[in-house]
Amino acid sequence: MAQTIAFIGLGNMGSGMAANLAKAGYAVRAFDLSADALVRAGSDGCAVAGSAADAVSGADAVVTMLPAGKHVEAVYNGEVFGAAKPGALFMDCSTIDVVTARKVVEAAIAKGFAMVDAPVSGGIAAAAGGTLTFMVGGEADAFAQAEPILAHMGKAVIHAGGAGAGQAAKICNNMLLGISMIGTCEAFALSQKLGLDPQVFFDISSKASGQCWSMTSYCPVPGPVPAAPSNRDYEGGFAAALMLKDLKLAMEAAAAANAATPMGAQAEALYQTFSNLGGAAKDFSGIIKMLDGSWRA
Ligand code: NAD
Repeated sequence: MAQTIAFIGLGNMGSGMAANLAKAGYAVRAFDLSADALVRAGSDGCAVAGSAADAVSGADAVVTMLPAGKHVEAVYNGEVFGAAKPGALFMDCSTIDVVTARKVVEAAIAKGFAMVDAPVSGGIAAAAGGTLTFMVGGEADAFAQAEPILAHMGKAVIHAGGAGAGQAAKICNNMLLGISMIGTCEAFALSQKLGLDPQVFFDISSKASGQCWSMTSYCPVPGPVPAAPSNRDYEGGFAAALMLKDLKLAMEAAAAANAATPMGAQAEALYQTFSNLGGAAKDFSGIIKMLDGSWRA
């Protein structure tokens, strides 16, 4: 008989992920606070549950894809722990702070469940297309159980270490991404002021030592990378608000660990300013407009 999976949190990311589990043959019981999200899950092949506890009851595994740590704590402490069957496997795929991630995994283990933190890299298109990268924290046994399920939603599932290690990998990666995007934007803005054609600068730098993902996949100037959000007025892609969220999580973790992250702090301040100026919903590469002085909300 197909494994039953409860899926809680059917937003931009969770809706596509739940649909991929249903497509893979799992019996998916979906719950979200939003009625619209439930209708969509129903049409994507999931059974709609009336509450998180209802979705979880009798399920072999639970996947959560929620906005932040407080939602994850509330859902697990308030509903999942009380309703899940003994030995059930929990996978929290939300991006949350490392401290809360560890606390929830430890509480799950103490109650006899298996749990991993499994945040993702990749946006809404990767969630819908089943091409996410999962960074997983937790015990080896829990990882072994989670891996085949996560593999139906992603192209890579990597064991990062113990509880919270998935979240640690995610925020370190995204801190680097935020810093590299700002550096890429500064370089393009300066090169233009110095009279270089953006395509020419791209052709040189993308083959020289300045090459990075922010340049070759999400080039902040339109033209050189046709699929990049810069060609669509910075619509779609990875919202600056989400980059800011991840940078705040990284700075919180850095403070707790006494790590020096001055460039991460600058990136947080710049994305905060960009968001305050009305850029929150734009792709994070749109910050080039603030840096070159052409931003209009
Ligand atoms: P979203 O806001 O679109 O979806 C979150 C969903 O959770 C909403 O539908 C909301 O109704 C639901 N929800 C909130 N509290 C709930 C509760 N108590 N019970 C049931 N449902 C509840 O967010 P998203 O873009 O899907 O992101 C989800 C997570 O994935 C976040 O942690 C985000 O940081 C992370 N993430 C997002 C992206 C992206 O590109 N959107 C990329 C990587 C990681």
